[in-house]
Amino acid sequence: MKEKIVIAGAGHAAGQVVATLRQKKHEGEIVLIGEEHWLPYQRPPLSKKFLAGEMPAERLFVKPPSFYEDPRITVKLDTTVEAIDCKKKTLRLSPRETVQYHKLVLALGSRVRRLPSLPGADLAGIHYLRNVRDVQAIQGDMQEGRNLVIIGAGYIGLEVAAVASGCGLNVTVVEMQDRVMKRVVAPQVSEFYQKEHRAQGVELRLKTGLKGFSGNGRVRSVQLSDGTEIPADLVVIGIGIVPNSELAAAAGLEVENGIVVDDRCRTSDGDIYAVGDCTFHPSAVMGCSIRLESVQNALEQARTAAANLCGEDLHYDQVPWFWSDQYDLKLQIAGVAQGYDSAIVRGARHERSFSCVYLNEGRILAVDAVNTPRDFLQAKKLIADRAVMDLGRLADSTIELKDLVV
Ligand code: FAD
Repeated sequence: MKEKIVIAGAGHAAGQVVATLRQKKHEGEIVLIGEEHWLPYQRPPLSKKFLAGEMPAERLFVKPPSFYEDPRITVKLDTTVEAIDCKKKTLRLSPRETVQYHKLVLALGSRVRRLPSLPGADLAGIHYLRNVRDVQAIQGDMQEGRNLVIIGAGYIGLEVAAVASGCGLNVTVVEMQDRVMKRVVAPQVSEFYQKEHRAQGVELRLKTGLKGFSGNGRVRSVQLSDGTEIPADLVVIGIGIVPNSELAAAAGLEVENGIVVDDRCRTSDGDIYAVGDCTFHPSAVMGCSIRLESVQNALEQARTAAANLCGEDLHYDQVPWFWSDQYDLKLQIAGVAQGYDSAIVRGARHERSFSCVYLNEGRILAVDAVNTPRDFLQAKKLIADRAVMDLGRLADSTIELKDLVV
């Protein structure tokens, strides 16, 4: 097909759309438009090895720069898509330009959730973490012996805590909930991670809110809801993300908790697809529509959309998976732990190798596998099969998960 395909956003999903279009020998022009200064890159290392200074920037790229040196590919970086005109099939860009498309892919990702206006929230030394520039700013402030306060004990906050404590900073994590990662894991898993972080010298302040920040131009302390004030040379805020769906809404596309797409990654306009963090999509495995913040989802939706743009009829129906690295602990998550009535731990937490299986009426929904890749791999298939498990023997980790199906 010779259609001109324009991709708005140049992140992880966008990079994969271009790669799949090329692999499928799309013959038309491809235009990639991104507001960042960088070619598509991976974000997971930003709170892990790249933050720790253990990974060079070149290794972040989804594809090397030479990959885009193709006469059919035009890359416009430092360029923002300001509006979509679905009738005229054009995009308005900044710097000022209008671009025509036959088919459009929205790969706009998400942005960090910002704190509500609090005293001192704009002081220097207060950081968010979403892109390479954010990491560079944090690294500039991250020196041994300094006091780092992290707001939010989700994946990103805890990964930063692990890296920073390894670099010799004094780390305090402030969390409103009564346990870490409460939104995504069972109490048994939270308890394990709390112990691990404390053992590494990280102070956890749970059930604690934030009142504001003090400092003279630069942050010096953080005031907490319990009336205490803790010293801070730098602050990292990790309180979640918001999908970039406003452009789509303004263009009249259907938007709910993200840009609504079907299982072919098509939006409510047949010529516009959407992929990655910005989408709200059907999940057959969960029986409802969901929004995911994960590389697996970004890559699989990108492959699906690109294949369909090349005339195939592919539908996206994968078991979601995710990972988080904290210290030497590899947490791999298959499925989504929502609506479970039991959470059973297999293996020994004190040996730092166990998994937690989430079930509803005996049916497996999700697994958190900590240093147990075998359980993770088997769980993906069992979740897809909606397997019913032998609850009486599930805690016995000497029996493989796949052998516990009834
Ligand atoms: P993005 O990668 O966010 O790309 C969207 C791009 O669109 C951005 O460059 C944005 O600037 C650009 N854009 C937005 N609006 C416009 C506009 N109007 N005009 C032009 N460009 C625009 N996932 C995992 O599975 N495992 C992990 O361990 C993990 N760790 C993470 C750690 C960090 C620090 C972060 C930030 C994310 C992590 N994630 C992880 C999530 C994962 O990186 C995202 O799910 C993935 O990047 C989504 O890809 P995307 O292309 O949809 O969005």
